[in-house]
Amino acid sequence: MNTIPKWTEDLLKWYDLHKRELPWRGAKDPYYIWVSEIMSQQTRIEAMKPYFDNWINLFPTVAELAAAEEDDVVRAWQGLGYYSRARNLRLGAQEVMDEYDGEIPRDRKSMESLKGVGSYTAGAVLSIAFNQREPAVDGNVLRVYARLYNVHEDILSTQGRKTIGSIVAETMPYDRPGDFNQALMDLGAMVCVPKTPRCEMCPLSSSCEAHALGTAQDLPIRIVKTKVKDVTVEVVLLEKDGFYLLHKRPNRGLLRSMWEFPAGEDQSVIERLSSIGITIEVGAYVTEFTHVFSHRRWHIKAYEARVKDLRDDLPSDWQWFRKEEFHTLPWAGPHGKLIEYCK
Ligand code: SF4
Repeated sequence: MNTIPKWTEDLLKWYDLHKRELPWRGAKDPYYIWVSEIMSQQTRIEAMKPYFDNWINLFPTVAELAAAEEDDVVRAWQGLGYYSRARNLRLGAQEVMDEYDGEIPRDRKSMESLKGVGSYTAGAVLSIAFNQREPAVDGNVLRVYARLYNVHEDILSTQGRKTIGSIVAETMPYDRPGDFNQALMDLGAMVCVPKTPRCEMCPLSSSCEAHALGTAQDLPIRIVKTKVKDVTVEVVLLEKDGFYLLHKRPNRGLLRSMWEFPAGEDQSVIERLSSIGITIEVGAYVTEFTHVFSHRRWHIKAYEARVKDLRDDLPSDWQWFRKEEFHTLPWAGPHGKLIEYCK
């Protein structure tokens, strides 16, 4: 029995007329689709387009990405945030080269085994590049389906995702699965938008349960549990004879392996520098601003500082740089904003 509902045809017809023109659409290159899907997570499509073009210029193939230096890869991502996405893309490309002879795998299990590739990305690549009937369920799809089928479960919970995931798996058409997934993404981005869905222009309004029941605005249900922690971060611009002291953050945790000015997150910056043998005198106030991460809010206060005393043998994660070299470094998010205050 064919359980594919009629609204899927309406959606595909709407997609043919209204789909967004995106640089990676039409090419069917699985690598392009992989990159675009990872890049578009947590980033608006309009904002990521120039990054995508630049990325493909720098790393046009899986092989070239696999062979690239990590710092170059992270620098190409600078401004998009969530840098583990860039690092994982490179590691995933290396796995494709080492384990799959340079060919992006065509089955879900292998695809999901690649670093940084989850169920959504695997579904998107397999359906769009290889025309396989594989769902790609992200926040957009959860929202659209929660409204279409009037699902009142928490879409952030495992159970809520499972409920909607099984409806998607049942209702996905056999014909044009890649277009169907992209049509859902476009509908979620342009019509069935988060706060105020545009039901009056929606091609699915006659099939939508939430629209019929007047619950569209209340859906989806999202119960957010994470708390954002406020942290005061003291930063110093410590210059000596035309060189600035910088620190490479550890290769785990927030902003890993990226460069920052000397900073104190849980301790004062004076104590932190003193622990590596540098005594400083803090000078004039420079600036302050707030930067919000997913679980943390940094309240940054920056000061000038000068060296009173220092050891010659700094730990290897601390180095002196000229300002002219700054553009070659991957900067730890908000620290990049402080460059303009260096002489
Ligand atoms: Fe979303 Fe409204 Fe369309 Fe239903 S009718 S899918 S709530 S935009």
